Amino acid sequence: MTSAILLFMISLYDLLDAANGQLFGEAAARLFTGFCLDIHFIRPDEIFVARRTERGDTHQHMQEAIARGATGLLCTNPPDFDTEGITVVIVKDTEASLLSWASYALSKFKPTVIAVTGSSGKTVTAEAICRVLGTRFSVFNGAQDDYYFSDSRLGLAVALAHLSPEQKMVVLSLEARQVGEMEVLVQIVQPKIGVVTHVGYGGMAAFENVDQSTHEASVLVEHLPGDGLAVLNYDRDEVRDMASCTPARTLTVAMSNFGADLMAYNIVAGLTQTGFDLRQGAERYVGRWTPLLGKHQLYSVLAALAVGQFCDVPLDGGLKAITNMESLPGRMNSLVGINGCVLVDDTYDATPQSTHYALEWLQSHRGSGIRTVFVMGDMDRLGEHSRHGHRLVGQQAAEACDIVVTQGAEASLSGRAAIDYGMTPGSVHITYSATDAIQWVRELLRPTPNDVILVKGGRSSRMENVVRELLNIDGDQSRLVRQGAVWQSISHGQPMYTTWVEIDQKAIAHNVRLLKAMVGEDVTIMAVVKADGYGHGAVGTGITALANGAKALAVASLDEALELRNAGIEAPVLVLSYTPVAAVRQALRRNITLTLYDMDLAYLYNQVARAEGQALTVHVKIDTGMGRMGVLANEAIPFFRQLMKLDYLNVEGVFTHFSMSDEDLDYTAQQLHNFKMVVNPLRANGFDFKYVHASNSAAILTMPDAYFNLVRPGIALYGQSPSETVPIPLEFKPAITWKTVVAQVKALPPGSPVGYGQTYYTEEHEQIAVIPVGYSHGFRRKPQHWQQVLVRGQFAPIVGRVSMEKTTINVTHIPDVTIGDEVVLLGKQGEAEITPYAVAEQLGTNNYEVITTILARMPRH
Ligand SMILES: *Cc1c(COP(=O)(O)O)cnc(C)c1O
Repeated sequence: MTSAILLFMISLYDLLDAANGQLFGEAAARLFTGFCLDIHFIRPDEIFVARRTERGDTHQHMQEAIARGATGLLCTNPPDFDTEGITVVIVKDTEASLLSWASYALSKFKPTVIAVTGSSGKTVTAEAICRVLGTRFSVFNGAQDDYYFSDSRLGLAVALAHLSPEQKMVVLSLEARQVGEMEVLVQIVQPKIGVVTHVGYGGMAAFENVDQSTHEASVLVEHLPGDGLAVLNYDRDEVRDMASCTPARTLTVAMSNFGADLMAYNIVAGLTQTGFDLRQGAERYVGRWTPLLGKHQLYSVLAALAVGQFCDVPLDGGLKAITNMESLPGRMNSLVGINGCVLVDDTYDATPQSTHYALEWLQSHRGSGIRTVFVMGDMDRLGEHSRHGHRLVGQQAAEACDIVVTQGAEASLSGRAAIDYGMTPGSVHITYSATDAIQWVRELLRPTPNDVILVKGGRSSRMENVVRELLNIDGDQSRLVRQGAVWQSISHGQPMYTTWVEIDQKAIAHNVRLLKAMVGEDVTIMAVVKADGYGHGAVGTGITALANGAKALAVASLDEALELRNAGIEAPVLVLSYTPVAAVRQALRRNITLTLYDMDLAYLYNQVARAEGQALTVHVKIDTGMGRMGVLANEAIPFFRQLMKLDYLNVEGVFTHFSMSDEDLDYTAQQLHNFKMVVNPLRANGFDFKYVHASNSAAILTMPDAYFNLVRPGIALYGQSPSETVPIPLEFKPAITWKTVVAQVKALPPGSPVGYGQTYYTEEHEQIAVIPVGYSHGFRRKPQHWQQVLVRGQFAPIVGRVSMEKTTINVTHIPDVTIGDEVVLLGKQGEAEITPYAVAEQLGTNNYEVITTILARMPRH
């Protein structure tokens, strides 16, 4: 965001006029400094625009907006609070009003509008154009970063509010997010000059294919006036072909194809700047430089020079302006990283296209003593192209990089693809959180001045936070995107789902560290990630646990173990339960450790291992009083005697499991005693084990003398209590939140039935909200249901029956509940919290069942 001096550019009367608005009450302020669409970003004397968003209706924020400094409100419903001293404008549709105002403002000042579109490079191109035109004119840059990326039209109106009359040139970036949107944008801004940078996979969630986004870009070119200019990228066929559909003059720019009006060649892609020669007709300009990194950014330079030509800026003057231009934050911005490495910040956003260019630049520096490192976060807004896009990036990364570090579930696909295309698993590091990515780079990669680290990711992945932690110079923080307290509090990405689970990997990392501190250096942590990581995702939890102190993982079955291996996890994995003989060969081949507790099985496992010519690693389980799986304690010594005769079994460990460690410490002490009575004589008889283990979470929290040299925490990793008697210490953090959204709100008169079977009748006038979640998602129906959920930080009781995928809640006591409001089923909202423990009480089970039965098909973030 720019923090320029605030000018009062919006006049109340223009607004009433343009938007066909009505004053509500007396007018107070008559001039405003800007429009504000999000109270987080409000500045003094702005007019707050209330509207319906996917996240709910922001009319509810009006009072807060005033409290934070707004002096006006643009809304559809009059406020129900005292509006003395505030100007309130009522319109039929606030978004349409903003757009009318935008075209009104442009028609009033009549500047020359230069519109930039394309799938990447728009903002840099706009900035370059401003630099070049700025040598002769007063230029307004309306293409600055905006945070309204769910709607570029509104962003446009917000930007134009800062236009002043003496600015005769206006540069805007136009992005169509759906078919037909460019037409609307063009009608509003009436550009004279149009620039098309690239077309390709971009923020294309709403497009079915590249053709549609290409078509949207061509709409801009078609609508230019006969005395206007189209600047086209000559190297891209689809863009070059647009010349045939515009009445305007065209200027083409290129790097690889002769025949363009302006051409850059002899390109030198340096580490901190880019060199080039320029040719225009017979004229040549040799040895020019720009701090914009990467060949692809030269298109921005060329487009800006072309626009300059058209507006009578001499080429030499334009070139000088470009040479003095600085890189924009988050766009291939070369910074000094820790230990003096070259840290290239490209975190503003990522599409497969822009990532392709960034990697192309990185690849050009590979070799000659330089190590190229790519740190990548999830690309967002790719819709169904996501998987393909991430794999493509991974494929290219295998060529371009020595090391790849990924953050997040989608980016892990790139990491896997990089391995598939030839990188060694050791040079690809997959993480699920910023903390782990940062830590890995700082502590294990240990950058040197010979490293070039490129950091990139989609907006929601917030990779700028990774860059911040890798800076060498504190002051450079101000050169990053999306910094400051407000940004830290904002999460991005509209949920595409009706119900989903959010996993806080930071919380898991934190919990593992606490456990490690508790058990000490000499005790190995084997993180238990069975049942899909207790509903938290086994792969993500496993990767996070291993990055934060765990050395091994445990699961319940071989298929769970294989899921971890298939995700690239190489740490030891123990299957805690039964493995059929038929699956043993798989276990051997994927290096998975099995549990043994029966002599017949031991013989059969041994046979398979011999046939494979490879020893099978096993841990022997002793039943010390749980009465479940295991060799009975008094049969243990003969069992081991026989076992030792089987030469294809490598007995690495011996363990037991406590049945009462969360309730009865005396009984557990007895079990511990029984276990020692097995282990000690075994040792005395010369049996030696690498690992001896017994403790689950409850025992870790209560019985330090039961650690032996390995512990198996499960529930504590996730920040949940083993039981009422053994609550999790306060410093642990719960990691799971289960959410949905309000799908409908209706007012029902007294005596109305609600839901299947009419088990509930309203008692008075009630507001009933429908949430799109039901027993098919694990939101239990019978014999007891959840009882309540959270809406707007308050408890809302469930009324009527829970259906297969819908539930009704009473929100009469919670004001302003609207469609799209977030609902929390499990976890915190504001100060209020629904713990798995509280739900378990309602359902008549334990918190383990609550978190593990939330279905695995639920999307996770
Ligand atoms: C599930 C399990 C654990 C983990 O138990 P928590 O109570 O979740 O810590 C440990 N060991 C075995 C054998 C298990 O089956």
